[in-house]
Amino acid sequence: PEAIMVSELANRMAERVGDVVKSLMQMGMMVTQNETIDADTAELIIEEFGHNVTRVSDADVEDVIKEVEDKPEDLEQRPPVITIMGHVDHGKTSLLDAIRNAKVVAGEAGGITQHIGAYQVKTDAGATLTFLDTPGHAAFTSMRSRGAQVTDIVVLVVAADDAVMPQTVEAINHAKAAKVPMIVAINKIDKPAANPDKVRTDLLQHEVIVEKMSGEVQDVEVSAMTGQGLDDLLEAIALQAEILELKANPNRAAVGAVIEAQLDVGRGPVATVLVQNGTLRQGDIFVVGEQYGKVRALIDDQGNRVKEAGPSVPVEVLGLNGTPEAGDVLNVTETEAQAREIASYREQAAKDKRAAAGAATTLEQLMANA
Ligand code: GDP
Ligand code: MG
Repeated sequence: PEAIMVSELANRMAERVGDVVKSLMQMGMMVTQNETIDADTAELIIEEFGHNVTRVSDADVEDVIKEVEDKPEDLEQRPPVITIMGHVDHGKTSLLDAIRNAKVVAGEAGGITQHIGAYQVKTDAGATLTFLDTPGHAAFTSMRSRGAQVTDIVVLVVAADDAVMPQTVEAINHAKAAKVPMIVAINKIDKPAANPDKVRTDLLQHEVIVEKMSGEVQDVEVSAMTGQGLDDLLEAIALQAEILELKANPNRAAVGAVIEAQLDVGRGPVATVLVQNGTLRQGDIFVVGEQYGKVRALIDDQGNRVKEAGPSVPVEVLGLNGTPEAGDVLNVTETEAQAREIASYREQAAKDKRAAAGAATTLEQLMANA
């Protein structure tokens, strides 16, 4: 469910296709009626035209899992979760690697970081930050379309020698649709052709006004290659996190989101879960998407076995009955019977939904068919 044709979207909203194309143009997207746009851009357009957005979620079973409202006094500060987005080749992977190499504290496994889909670093000032290790927009949107919003802050990477490009605009649209604050990392500042002010003025056209242009979006000049500005970027993220006042209750049954999952030959189904609230512990019984299980082992981003994982901590979870999907939500339940029941309910609901997909009644289904 990633894209929809512009004409199809207009048709679905009962709006003139020309008006939709014009609206997209005002957002900086030059597309014709026969081209497709991604789901988040579509969502912005739908809102722009004053319509309601419906995305399918597994709300059907929400009443089965009791959503406990946390009392304000039970809430504690939690680390921010950061996703890096930007145009291809602007340096997303390089930046993630540079931050990881510079800042990961060596653990028992000798500081060899596992690629489990996310990792944590500590800034010099002592703040902990959680980075999602899967750059790119597909991960962001597919997680969101499955109901998991895990990102607190988007770092928008823009190469100083290339300025704003189509996927930069797409990333801006994703962040805006998700209402996630952005920090602009103006990368490749080491290059002779670097022109950071061009990046800043380009961004103005997309309503991203950085601090240097008297706006409120933090901008930091960095080089993933030389390491210049990395600490400044991390401090900018920590500052943004402070403003957001991110909180969770570590003393409750865990809720998390699957970052990635696979069937491991030796270990069986393995999921990397980002704990979003509560604390996940060895021995906990849980349901995750259409799967369930009992935590046999938890492994952190450095390959260490851990007994528990609190809010904003990514961990590999072993002990699943099957392989869940990225974006699936994990809930700890009281009994195994409950977990099994919810999992099979969801499996049936998914089957029913597929059977009913002939009638495209939602944007989600429409996009799947487009
Ligand atoms: P991605 O597609 O956004 O993940 O970009 P990559 O991280 O793969 O980087 C694309 C290219 O740019 C690679 O050849 C990197 O070595 C290079 N690159 C990334 N960051 C920098 C930087 O800060 N300075 C310079 N000079 N090159 C960089
Ligand atoms: Mg990359």
